[in-house]
Amino acid sequence: MKKCSYFFDFLISHAKVYGFIFPSSEIYGGLNAIYDYGPHGVELKNNIKEFWWKSMTLLHENIVGVDSSILMHSDVWHASGHVDKFNELLIDHKDSKKRYRPEILIQEYVKKNFLNNPKKKEEILSRLSQSLEKKDLGDIKVLIDELCICDPVFKTKNWTDIRHFNMMFKIKNGKDLYLRPETAQGVFSNFHNIVKSSRMKIPFGIAQIGKSFRNEFIARRFLFRMREFEQMEMQFFILPEEEIKWYEYWKENRLKWHLELKLGDKTSYQLCDHDHLSHYASAGSDIEFHFPFGFQEIEGIHSRRDFDLKNHEFFSKKKIRIFEWKKNYIPYVIETSLGLDRLFLAIFSSSLKKEKLKNGKIRIVLKLPYFLSPIKAAIFPLVRKDGLQEIAKKIFHDMKIHHRLVYDEKESIGKLYRRQDAIGTPFCFTVDYDTIKTDTVTMRNRDSMEQKRIHIKEISKIIKQETGFEKVLKKLYHFILFFSYFSL
Ligand code: ATP
Repeated sequence: MKKCSYFFDFLISHAKVYGFIFPSSEIYGGLNAIYDYGPHGVELKNNIKEFWWKSMTLLHENIVGVDSSILMHSDVWHASGHVDKFNELLIDHKDSKKRYRPEILIQEYVKKNFLNNPKKKEEILSRLSQSLEKKDLGDIKVLIDELCICDPVFKTKNWTDIRHFNMMFKIKNGKDLYLRPETAQGVFSNFHNIVKSSRMKIPFGIAQIGKSFRNEFIARRFLFRMREFEQMEMQFFILPEEEIKWYEYWKENRLKWHLELKLGDKTSYQLCDHDHLSHYASAGSDIEFHFPFGFQEIEGIHSRRDFDLKNHEFFSKKKIRIFEWKKNYIPYVIETSLGLDRLFLAIFSSSLKKEKLKNGKIRIVLKLPYFLSPIKAAIFPLVRKDGLQEIAKKIFHDMKIHHRLVYDEKESIGKLYRRQDAIGTPFCFTVDYDTIKTDTVTMRNRDSMEQKRIHIKEISKIIKQETGFEKVLKKLYHFILFFSYFSL
């Protein structure tokens, strides 16, 4: 645990020092669980978004996009069930004034204290599960009392009763407005317009990337649980009788997508079916990733059936239906919902390495997938004299509109390499005295640190081939064809 928290402190500091993530409003003391993306962070984040967007809308001609507003009519949230049911359980500790989720308190207590008594552990967790199922808040409280669970800091048992806590942020603006807690409702409320304007036929999907807000009262683990975050969601509309087929397909597809990021092998992921479903879902599965603090959800795949469209029909009194093949019906929905910031954390944490070099020195390197790196290549002159700067600057200016590059001459070549390693730049090209004679430069690879000479004319082609999206998109497309997506 100590090792994990040490690594986490190192990661947070690295993210700040190298311009990836800053605490929001830091000059005023910060804001709990809200973060800003710095110059390199925003590039990495944009690349992740672009990769997801292309994987959805380029590789599937029957998936279209939308960008709906954050604020919506408050009836949207009544229809979706979020006003009544988007709740978490909450317990307050009267002495420490801290808030906890009671089920997590119990789970963590049991994990720690019944390591050698699996039978007892199972018994308590099963009782907890039953109480959650029956929504028996009284019994969960009794369980906390029986186990004598104390506040971790105050070591006392002075707990309040357990109550429900709605996770939506409410804005008073005459009428109540809500900051959306998921992007999906912008898709459902636009369903009719999208079908009409895009002439989509079942099965088809609608993809969206956008901000969501949840009043997480236990926000921790950096980007993992934030109060303002971004989601990349896709709702796939299908014939009701094809629910299982598409649910299984999208689980498989999304896992394959994660594996293509090469953050780890198959053992870094696990698919877990939900015991407790969200209020809108009839089936749900999480893709869990092995974060530095253990396996945790990174993406959810749900079958929402006709829950949302049916409720919007009822609340809006407008027909939201598909008329096809002489049939008139409300389609079912399979949803894939990925947290952009959580994925950013997964990518950042699994890429950040401290490596011991042959000379005994340590280098810090961010081994990002090349196609996601904020900067694709750096161009340096070996020294700031004898015309080397001019050649290096010309290479940089000739290529800068094709690739995201940096030109740097501010430090010695060794330090310049280290800086690019720390922000994950896959290639560095150095102009030296041989460049003047042979039109060649030294190409240095981030991961292997190997150097070789290449002709100036080859630079652009190498950057495109090695750091572009095409290679990985092609692999995903083969997967889609292999699974005969288009005839499923
Ligand atoms: P959790 O159980 O971790 O609270 P959830 O099951 O409520 O997540 P969903 O409603 O399925 O999450 O949301 C889909 C995805 O959105 C999640 O898999 C996660 O990647 C992301 N997400 C949800 N809540 C947050 C948050 N507070 N901060 C960052 N990302 C989040």
